[in-house]
Amino acid sequence: MMLNIEQTPNFLEKGTCVTLVLHLSNSFQARGLPILQMVETIRCQIMEMGGRRRIEAANWETTLCPNIEKVLAKIMFIARQNSIIPSDGRLFEVVNGNKTYVENIPEWTCSCHKWQLLKIPCEHACAAIACSQKPLYDHVSPFYTTNTYRAAYAVTVNPINNNDMPCMNINDIQVKPSIKKRLPGRPWKKRIPSRGEAKHIYICSRCKQEGHNRRTCRNPTLQEDI
Ligand SMILES: [Zn+2]
Ligand SMILES: [Zn+2]
Repeated sequence: MMLNIEQTPNFLEKGTCVTLVLHLSNSFQARGLPILQMVETIRCQIMEMGGRRRIEAANWETTLCPNIEKVLAKIMFIARQNSIIPSDGRLFEVVNGNKTYVENIPEWTCSCHKWQLLKIPCEHACAAIACSQKPLYDHVSPFYTTNTYRAAYAVTVNPINNNDMPCMNINDIQVKPSIKKRLPGRPWKKRIPSRGEAKHIYICSRCKQEGHNRRTCRNPTLQEDI
């Protein structure tokens, strides 16, 4: 609705869209309302959320969104514990205690798989990127940049007139589930046949008579012609 798919290149990739989906599902708190009020509540929430985020993002001066900058700063701090063995300028081996990790900088991969999953360099990748003297921001997905965030909320929902809407207190019109009384007795196990459905007739494979099967057959076996 507000998002332009072209501006969110990793939209469908694992990990990257988690925050978006969470925000969307948390935002729509319109359960239990009649349909008209539900749509109206969701529209208002989208309008309010989009506007708020647009204003927020206008003041950001960082390359990445502020919370991602914080995450990256933490990762960079941990990255100092690693020691790096360069290979050919593209590949690096990162040693942390008794564990080693393989970094491929052009491919954006680390053998711990965090970089591939989040598209934010992990502590091993950060150490390798610092060693290669390449800019760190070039190795973070554009999905996390302030520019992408601004582009996502660039188109806003306009307020509309609602003169015909009935004036009601939302708390009075909550649709509650009906009170269901449990009937006595054991619930049905057998499927109720549809109207016109033909009842299956069993034919015994032993005596060729109807109404039973060969396991419960008490008739003598038919003499088959040879
Ligand atoms: Zn790693
Ligand atoms: Zn039989």
